Amino acid sequence: MRYEIRGEFVAPPGHCHCWQCRKHSGASFGTTAPIKASELHFVDGEPLLKSWESEPGIHRFFAGCCGSPIFKRRDAFPALLGFRLGTLDTDPGQKAEQHIYVGSKVPWLDLDDGLPQKPGGCPFGEPERS
Ligand SMILES: [Zn+2]
Repeated sequence: MRYEIRGEFVAPPGHCHCWQCRKHSGASFGTTAPIKASELHFVDGEPLLKSWESEPGIHRFFAGCCGSPIFKRRDAFPALLGFRLGTLDTDPGQKAEQHIYVGSKVPWLDLDDGLPQKPGGCPFGEPERS
């Protein structure tokens, strides 16, 4: 499966520590950038794209061949995708600028990169969650 983002991020990437990003990535946090859905283009393997609805109105898309999470889409904001940067082969040229939902951060991770830390902070403007 290969894909390209043919545009700029809608907002700077962020490291999200909410329980959903942790559990759906299998990592201590998920690094995500909002992108325009119209700017994600599949070069190869699009039929392998699978999805599931993690909660009403939130669809998580992953590679059916390896299970890698690729993006999420909210019914309330269908033109935007929360794209998982860890799946990229190349440097997107923009670094994460903040940690969000740090109230849900795992205890074994220290944050000492100097980035702002926010207790909430969904880039899609949704209500706070832990
Ligand atoms: Zn999250």
